[in-house]
Amino acid sequence: MNGQEEPKGTGNNEELSAAAPSHFIKDIIEEDIRKNKNDGRVATRFPPEPNGYIHIGHAKSICLNFGLAKQYGGTCNLRFDDTNPSKEDTEYVDSIMDDVRWLGFTWDDRLYYASDYFDRLYDYAVQLINDGKAFVCDLSAEEMREYRGTLKEPGKESPHRNRSIEENLTLFEAMKNGEFPDGSRTLRAKIDMSSGNINMRDPVIYRIQRSHHHRTGDKWCIYPMYDFTHCLSDATEGITHSICTLEFENNRPLYDWILDQLPVPCHPQQIEFARLNLTYTVMSKRKLLELVTKKYVSGWDDPRMPTICGMRRRGFTPEAIRDFCDRIGVAKRDSTVDVALLEHCLREDLNMRAPRVMAVLNPLRVVIENYPEGKVEEFDAVNNPEDEGAGTRKIPFARTLYIEQEDFREDSPKKFFRLAPGKEVRLKHAYYVTCTDVIKDPATGEITEIRCTYDPETRGGWSKDGRKVKGTLHWVSADHALDAEVRLYEHLFTAEEPEGDKETHYLDLLNADSLKVLNGCKVEPGLREAAPGTRYQFERQGYFCVDLKDSSPEKPVFNRTVPLRDSWAKIEKKDS
Ligand code: ATP
Ligand code: MG
Repeated sequence: MNGQEEPKGTGNNEELSAAAPSHFIKDIIEEDIRKNKNDGRVATRFPPEPNGYIHIGHAKSICLNFGLAKQYGGTCNLRFDDTNPSKEDTEYVDSIMDDVRWLGFTWDDRLYYASDYFDRLYDYAVQLINDGKAFVCDLSAEEMREYRGTLKEPGKESPHRNRSIEENLTLFEAMKNGEFPDGSRTLRAKIDMSSGNINMRDPVIYRIQRSHHHRTGDKWCIYPMYDFTHCLSDATEGITHSICTLEFENNRPLYDWILDQLPVPCHPQQIEFARLNLTYTVMSKRKLLELVTKKYVSGWDDPRMPTICGMRRRGFTPEAIRDFCDRIGVAKRDSTVDVALLEHCLREDLNMRAPRVMAVLNPLRVVIENYPEGKVEEFDAVNNPEDEGAGTRKIPFARTLYIEQEDFREDSPKKFFRLAPGKEVRLKHAYYVTCTDVIKDPATGEITEIRCTYDPETRGGWSKDGRKVKGTLHWVSADHALDAEVRLYEHLFTAEEPEGDKETHYLDLLNADSLKVLNGCKVEPGLREAAPGTRYQFERQGYFCVDLKDSSPEKPVFNRTVPLRDSWAKIEKKDS
């Protein structure tokens, strides 16, 4: 952006407040309500596994589940799917609750854990055995793989499939009592080894695993499998619409089979939708964990991470994330969304709410030769042209200022409308100034200072004689400015689809320039007391926020949330 333009918002505020568009899941729910299915009730849940921090993909699921409950006057539970104790931790539980709340959703008193149902799940398993629908199997994991068959060939029945009910009951109880080593036996549902759906080929529903559980401690040495747990937890909670991502489509027959065998209070309907993928981003929790543990990033909340806590630290607003989730919609087919759309939603929101301030990232000293030494004037500056209620503030002006290095060129090309020898520009809110001299370091030839004169008749930045200038620069007063550290971010990966490239490992696609730290930046004195998390628009530079972790009044640290340039708005314009 050159000096002549004022930053402009991308506009279209109606769109922000418009109701979220309809989609196939809403159609299903509305049809169910019409038919009075579930007595017209709508009950959803968000079921994270506490094995990592949640990310923007989870936000899609959160917005969908909590959003549907809200729209149809229903409820949405938060349920931790904690059946995999070796990978789970209360740190994750706490962060997930924090993040869901921050996104703006509440589960009231409906906080559940699958582990709360372990006793009940055990009883359900016993019932399946009693009904001849489950058996204890002694095959090793490897043998089981061999017996399972392939997509083209049916599987083979386990030699233990026809154990008597009594033997199965005894063995399952012995499993529970810790009489067998880890992995030596499983409990399997007795369904159909020749099913075209491999999930139905006598799936394991319990395994032996001596792991300390973050809630149940060492009470259990057997743990129920996900498929068994999930549908029964849904049914226990009276969920009506069990919404999950597409990779569970082939698990649906098993979900339904289990619920059909047991006397459950209700039979939720599983509905699958496409998960969110974003360009320049990896979304798998395993990969995000690897980035953290191998220290490619500073933590789960590194502002480059697609985690909710990372985005929050970067300066995202919950409103922008919710708006994004509404706009991308809900579909049945996987696709990758352009990260520029997410940034566009963020800019639209920040444009309305972020106060404008002046900050110089790469300072160049300017001395106004005809401005008296020691004199200080204060100018009124509008805080947000998009929001009259945001008011104005005073900014100090004095003889020595800083401007942006890139706003001065000694040998300026024709279309360079910023400062150059003999050229006049506006210092925003202040005066017109003309460059009269350039001071250089005699040793290096580097420009160290610019000399200017100002026109007292242009107070406030407007000329009484109607004389126009093409460039408007931001600046700060050298004596008044605060020193700050500014962190500039780019995409964490250089490839548009870092997970989609079979040839290259995603860690080899990391962007070496994803973080640039600038020290010695100069910001308006009014930012001294800025609270961590406060968001600003630095005039002509972008949106920034005070870092939640590292900023202090002695040493303010700002994260660049997003630059002003909006590639999505351009794409939209071209398309329309
Ligand atoms: P994993 O199960 O491999 O640990 P996960 O990403 O599926 O990883 P969960 O904690 O099981 O993590 O996810 C909780 C919910 O969020 C699930 O309903 C899941 O379908 C949904 N979800 C996860 N990732 C995405 C995504 N990228 N887009 C939409 N929904 C997602
Ligand atoms: Mg999952």
